[in-house]
Amino acid sequence: MNLILMGLPGAGKGTQAEKINEEYNIPHISTGDMFRLAIKEGTPLGKKAKEFMDQGALVPDEVTIGIVKERLSKDDCKQGFLLDGFPRTIAQAEALDELLSELGTSIDHVIHVDVPENVLVDRLTGRRVCPTCGATYHVMYNPPKQEGICDRDGSKLIQRDDDTAETVKNRLAVNIEQSQPLLDFYQNKGYLVTVDGNKDIDVVFKDIQSKIEN
Ligand code: AMP
Repeated sequence: MNLILMGLPGAGKGTQAEKINEEYNIPHISTGDMFRLAIKEGTPLGKKAKEFMDQGALVPDEVTIGIVKERLSKDDCKQGFLLDGFPRTIAQAEALDELLSELGTSIDHVIHVDVPENVLVDRLTGRRVCPTCGATYHVMYNPPKQEGICDRDGSKLIQRDDDTAETVKNRLAVNIEQSQPLLDFYQNKGYLVTVDGNKDIDVVFKDIQSKIEN
């Protein structure tokens, strides 16, 4: 199953991606995570990506398309994959179509997790992540058992640099402007399924399952 997960930052893509990965056993490929890892490791890719990410802007298409091409060509993607955070532009979507057709495959479903903007601002600024295992929490809606500490491994939770109030506004503005043409693109191709993301995590997941399995 070749899937794309779409939704504005904070829509719960990461959480649903984890559930999809567990249920269908396909790799979760998040370009945001790949860039964050490159930054942490201090690679040339990380240095390049950081310039853009710190401003809440998109990393240039040629850089992003390059890393996705490399990743999708790996063996573990042969049985399917879940793309999260990619494509973000029509140029990326077209490059993806081209790459998949070279690999003899295509997209099955594009899952759009839909959440109102005011809910997103609230969710994003309260989000905390574990720098060790990547688990995500929310100070109000999904707090860890002990404040500021990861339930899984005891690491001190952090706020992502791009989850601060100022950057969140810019990220949402960039994303709203960029995502509509993509939703239209996939709607026209007949791949788009939309789920209401302003519900409990498990309800959203069941909705996704029923839509991609039918
Ligand atoms: P995310 O974790 O998906 O919200 O991504 C965090 C940041 O990484 C974004 O704000 C962009 O700066 C960068 N990024 C992630 N995916 C892409 C993409 N497909 N195209 C361009 N930039 C991206």
